[in-house]
Amino acid sequence: MKAHDGMYIDGAWRPASGPDAIDVVNPADEQVIARVPAGTAEDVDAAVRAARAALPAWAATPPAERAARLTALRDVLLARQEEIAETVTAELGSPPSFSRTVQVGLPIAVAGSYAELAATHAFEEKVGNSIVHHEPVGVVGAITPWNYPLHQIVAKVAPALAAGCTVVLKPAEDTPLTARLFAEAVHEAGVPAGVFQLVTGLGPVAGQALAGHEGVDLVSFTGSTAVGRLIGATAGAAVKKVALELGGKSANVILPSADLARAVNVGVANVMANSGQTCSAWTRMLVHRDRYEEAVGLAAAAADKYGDRIGPLVSAKQQARVRGYIDQGMAEGARLVAGGADAPRERGFYVRPTVFADVTPEMTIAQEEIFGPVLSILRYEDEEDALRIANGTVYGLAGAVWAGDDAEAAAFARRMETGQVDINGGRFNPLAPFGGYKQSGVGRELGAHGLAEYLQTKSLQFQEG
Ligand code: NAD
Repeated sequence: MKAHDGMYIDGAWRPASGPDAIDVVNPADEQVIARVPAGTAEDVDAAVRAARAALPAWAATPPAERAARLTALRDVLLARQEEIAETVTAELGSPPSFSRTVQVGLPIAVAGSYAELAATHAFEEKVGNSIVHHEPVGVVGAITPWNYPLHQIVAKVAPALAAGCTVVLKPAEDTPLTARLFAEAVHEAGVPAGVFQLVTGLGPVAGQALAGHEGVDLVSFTGSTAVGRLIGATAGAAVKKVALELGGKSANVILPSADLARAVNVGVANVMANSGQTCSAWTRMLVHRDRYEEAVGLAAAAADKYGDRIGPLVSAKQQARVRGYIDQGMAEGARLVAGGADAPRERGFYVRPTVFADVTPEMTIAQEEIFGPVLSILRYEDEEDALRIANGTVYGLAGAVWAGDDAEAAAFARRMETGQVDINGGRFNPLAPFGGYKQSGVGRELGAHGLAEYLQTKSLQFQEG
């Protein structure tokens, strides 16, 4: 067990203001592996003041130099990828290969993409007789969840730094060790003091203090819709910018002309990845009634094959929550065809890969985000019915469509109320905008659209065009 005692503020690790600490638990064996300080409003205030002080110089730093720091950051993350992946596995529980390739590989690619964007983005443009300057929004308060601990941090900090903003990060209490490694990497990359600070702590204490701090110009939050609503209200009262990446209940629509086996197998893999703790997971599979039982059989077999390969959930709280949803699915009359609510192991926060058939659109498991390895399979009559079901939740984060050809799938996808749709298994693109329609959020992350969140425009009008 390792006890850490610092917060990264103004370029150095400083003791926290109070004695409170957070235990970090390995979800695979329930052992406490580390302790980090639980920051207070005082720590947040010190961090925001450091970020404000550093803002003018960083905002005025030429984009090419900001790009050089981001390239250096990407290189440090790359050099330390093994250590970071092991840390993600230790505090989140994701299997080592998934930690290496996705949990760490993806954010390294994203950091690299922002190094490039910082160097090439047009921070100034001519519009008629005006010059429009794209200037940094200011001090960013970033609040991140535990499900992809490094990716969620990089998806906010990299574009913020590229834009010329300074940042205070409050990471999830369940996964603070990855955040500490990220702060070390920022330091090693030679990012100037005050440009980035890390305050670990509890959401309702440190998170709330950061979201409500008057020295913060933009709050960028990823997590639950309930907390997102609170943060949006606080930001609204202060007329402060806000970016929210919230939950999802994405539909995987399998049209009659699709390759059913491929669509079902990829669909199950998508839901089970990271033990279902992915906001964009395709947790509702929509299948035409004529091929419904065939799809159910394929999905149950695919889920059973996962068996032991699935990691635990992050915490006892999440395990209890997911098992509660499985019980509720049974109680509401869905047909369990794989998995179940019983714990598969004596130790660790595991849940079996679970598949429900005969799920109807109004059931709780078809409406609420479960955030666990649970797939609901719904039956549709025709395309209009499929569209109604797909669009019939408060969420709109992601989704998938499968059809005999891409054009047919894309035509359906254009009618979906959601921010991102994968066509016939289209690959994840770290440069494409990611974010929600409806209650899945406000704003976009990744690529040039993600950079734009951290910029504000100023136009200067001249006599001559
Ligand atoms: P959460 O929203 O409680 O936590 C996310 C972050 O917000 C954490 O850093 C947390 O400390 C902070 N936070 C909590 N309360 C806060 C407050 N009052 N003010 C400011 N910050 C606060 O999410 P959770 O409890 O970790 O997970 C609960 C559910 O959220 C999950 O089951 C899932 O449905 C959803 N979730 C979604 C995503 C996503 O990527 N969209 C990620 C994680 C969790």
